[in-house]
Amino acid sequence: MKVFGSSGVRGVVNEELTPGFALRVAAAAGTVLGADRVAVARDTRHTGEMLVDAVSSGLASVGADVDRLGIVPTPGLQAYCEREGVPGVMVTASHNPPAYNGLKLIGGDGIELTRDRLDTVEERLDSDPERVDWHRVGTRRRVETARRHYREQLLAAVDREAIGSADLTVALDPGHGAGALTSPEFFRELGCSVLSVNAQPDGRFPGRDPEPVAETLGDLRRLVETSDADLGVAHDGDADRAIFVDETGSLVEGDAALAALAAAELDAGDVVVSAVNASQRLVDVAESVGADLHLTAIGSTNLITAIRSLQREGRHVPIAGEGNGGVMFPDYRVSRDGAYTAARFCELLVDRSASGIAAAHDGYHNVRRKVGYDDAEERAAMLSAVEAFATAADAELDTTDGYRLDYGDAWVLARPSGTEPVLRVYAEARERERAEDLAARMLDAIESA
Ligand code: MG
Repeated sequence: MKVFGSSGVRGVVNEELTPGFALRVAAAAGTVLGADRVAVARDTRHTGEMLVDAVSSGLASVGADVDRLGIVPTPGLQAYCEREGVPGVMVTASHNPPAYNGLKLIGGDGIELTRDRLDTVEERLDSDPERVDWHRVGTRRRVETARRHYREQLLAAVDREAIGSADLTVALDPGHGAGALTSPEFFRELGCSVLSVNAQPDGRFPGRDPEPVAETLGDLRRLVETSDADLGVAHDGDADRAIFVDETGSLVEGDAALAALAAAELDAGDVVVSAVNASQRLVDVAESVGADLHLTAIGSTNLITAIRSLQREGRHVPIAGEGNGGVMFPDYRVSRDGAYTAARFCELLVDRSASGIAAAHDGYHNVRRKVGYDDAEERAAMLSAVEAFATAADAELDTTDGYRLDYGDAWVLARPSGTEPVLRVYAEARERERAEDLAARMLDAIESA
């Protein structure tokens, strides 16, 4: 059984994710991490407290003392782990609906565990953990300062003076998640005027679902449109992502925001890491500055694993991320951080408007198609047709996760869905016809099988 997906353990509480299971994962993680102290935090979900109790018991049973931080964004727990040099467990289901919860494991360096260490935890799950004698069972204590220390660390890491002098009004939509307790204060401390919506922490998420996408951000867009806000910022449930709304109330596509941040951050010879569905916007930015684009399988764990490996090879990776608002600035920390990402976007607003920034990376067209299959045989036939097409094409082929063909000005990707019996085809180009044509040619190849 694969317990850790591309972003930790996730499931519907009391169906896939029970307190008993959380306890077992925590006990296994406790023995792998080998620490005598572990920090535990959660987002605002209704089921969070129950799961924190279970996780704390699992950790204590293998001899770890537990620092309970309460409700803190995932990057806030990571800041705590980094400062204290202790590993951590985050109880969160990030952007998933309210019925879900999950666990993320953080190392004593503040970074999510890479794939190989998660595999070790999974192996331990099959056997009983080495529980300690009664007198060595861990104790627990409450830590009330994690959110304040996180804000202080953020303030020290961004260009406070530039942002303060820009006299910005920022509209925040933490979506009732953990960012509700940190982002409004942080942006005020940066010298911004702050407006907010959905800013009460509430694990039932009455105002909107935790995922910040066009359909859930109507309130924020109206707030920006009807006020003098320069920028709208929305987080997911654990505030490691930031999605932006420009000053006119239009959503800034996640891919455009990532491209704009990358354009400001990258120098020649640098590497930018993204997933195999990376936008042509990012391809064009990397090309224009002379940086390399390194693609991984989809999911933040894969990006983190690749960044750390590139860093060990001596490469500089100043920025990485996906088009869903999850951006990493590895010189700051190899982790996604919604508040930090939003502050870095504010730095770009010193001499430009948000709509102006987005416009520089606008005008790309995306095409998405899917083809269903009935059985494993049909799936295999389709995949070998894709392979034959890809090998013969006059384009750069990347087989990290499916088949991605880069034509320089455009790309097409075919990959099997992880959840449905379909092959998905994506294409992107500056002209709609070009994207449609690339997708159609890939679909023809698949259907001919
Ligand atoms: Mg998240």
